[in-house]
Amino acid sequence: MSSNNAKKTASSVQKPVQRIVIVGASLAGLSAAESLRSEGFAGTITVIGDEPYAPYDRPPLSKTVLTGWLQAEHTTLPQSVDLQAEWLLGMPAIGLDLGNREVELADGRRVGFDRLLISTGTHARQWPDLAQAALDGVCLLHTRDDAVRLRARLAARPKRVLVIGGGFTGSEVASVCRELGLAVTVTERSATPLIGALGAAAGAFAGQLQRAHGVDLRCNVTVMSLEGDESGRLRCAYLSDGDILDIDVAVVALGAVRNVEWLRDSGLAFDSRGIACDAACRAFDINGMVTDDVFVAGDIVRWPHPLYEGELLAVEHWGNAVEQARTAAHNMVSVPADLQAYKSLPAFWSRQFGVNLKMIGLPSFADEVVLTQGSVSERRLVAAYGYKGRIVAALTVNMARWLPAYEAMIEARAPFPPVLHAPDSSAELRPVPAGFPPHGQITHSPNAIKTGPGPSIPSPEESPTSDKVKDPRVPPGFQPK
Ligand SMILES: Cc1cc2nc3c(=O)[nH]c(=O)nc-3n(C[C@H](O)[C@H](O)[C@H](O)COP(=O)(O)OP(=O)(O)OC[C@H]3O[C@@H](n4cnc5c(N)ncnc54)[C@H](O)[C@@H]3O)c2cc1C
Repeated sequence: MSSNNAKKTASSVQKPVQRIVIVGASLAGLSAAESLRSEGFAGTITVIGDEPYAPYDRPPLSKTVLTGWLQAEHTTLPQSVDLQAEWLLGMPAIGLDLGNREVELADGRRVGFDRLLISTGTHARQWPDLAQAALDGVCLLHTRDDAVRLRARLAARPKRVLVIGGGFTGSEVASVCRELGLAVTVTERSATPLIGALGAAAGAFAGQLQRAHGVDLRCNVTVMSLEGDESGRLRCAYLSDGDILDIDVAVVALGAVRNVEWLRDSGLAFDSRGIACDAACRAFDINGMVTDDVFVAGDIVRWPHPLYEGELLAVEHWGNAVEQARTAAHNMVSVPADLQAYKSLPAFWSRQFGVNLKMIGLPSFADEVVLTQGSVSERRLVAAYGYKGRIVAALTVNMARWLPAYEAMIEARAPFPPVLHAPDSSAELRPVPAGFPPHGQITHSPNAIKTGPGPSIPSPEESPTSDKVKDPRVPPGFQPK
């Protein structure tokens, strides 16, 4: 950082901010700590994390760590500046006392703050039957420890792996299984894999890819139960199509759950969709007032984006965790006149079955999709997503160099279907329905979604009916009222 910037920041700090606490020692937490030091913050930074490790990267866990190419311990994130932070690792925060500005730790200690950043992210959704979930061979994939365990299972060459859920994590695990030459079945309750994130049209392409690579893909099928042998080892799975699969590993890939439980009684506005904040990343309290000293960043957040009609967005994206944390860090040490609005476009990538998928914007906001460049048969294409005649998102398959052009169109609210001047653009653009499941219907891993306008609107996902919809064992065809 230039010394000019340092002076500007120091002089623009409203009142002395001396103690900053970050709860969540992962990607967003680390990015915020780095940005605070780059902004010239010279006070204490305490980073609290319930995992025993220094911040590490999750995307490789479902890709190169599972193949065995990268050791799990090599996922530790590099630290680009000397943070001089106090690290309280392996130490869950269990409460927040807003009045006294203190975080309560599991060992009874209380850590005071002038500014707090909450970046506690998500954890993997469990298999709902806990006895079945505890069978030897039933795995989750969210943490480094999960990845080490699953890698060991795959390296032992199981006769068949069952992946429950065809979202991004499930699809990537299936891809690794095929790369390792393992037999794999994917069960997906919807009509296609990736339907929550990309819609049915693009999901059909993802399904084709899976089958072409030898995945036994079962769509519109749920797993009714898992069964073990006398010694508690997973033996088989009962499917809603009547089939009984002989398996010894099952990967439960049913999406993520926000880590908000520790904030119960804190007075902050949160629910299972995350913590609501304003454009400056300041958390709302339960009265709908914005707090001055509590900021949020990463997967835990619901924030307003100017392009998506004031709805609060919730995304599970690496790039969002980094960028939102930077904005939050800047705002934590700034006077009101210097606050920045966070308005990065959602962006995500995935690598599976030999293709590189990238998306920009919010596909699940769209009602239509159109193939704009390339072709399905070449496995090299761009699809644009539209909502009420404007472009709101784009998906590239092995054509990432086009993303900046689409990003500019999305930000400019350009018309849909988009007017392109690309050499390989389709001669005639024929939009089709994007095919996102109706609101409230289970899509285990939408990965990026609009969540309603404000902190006080109850989520349709939280009604008793939708609890039933969320149960992954409920067979397809069940319609929420
Ligand atoms: C397997 C996998 C693959 C992924 N692949 C991709 C990809 O290809 N592309 C992409 O864009 N994104 C990907 N992601 C998503 C990306 O990794 C996340 O968006 C990112 O990690 C979010 O960072 P975060 O810091 O907000 O939260 P997290 O990474 O979830 O970190 C939150 C941390 O806070 C800790 N914590 C929670 N509660 C407490 C508490 N009470 N006290 C103390 N600590 C607490 C958690 O244990 C965790 O360490 C992937 C995620 C996973 C799990």
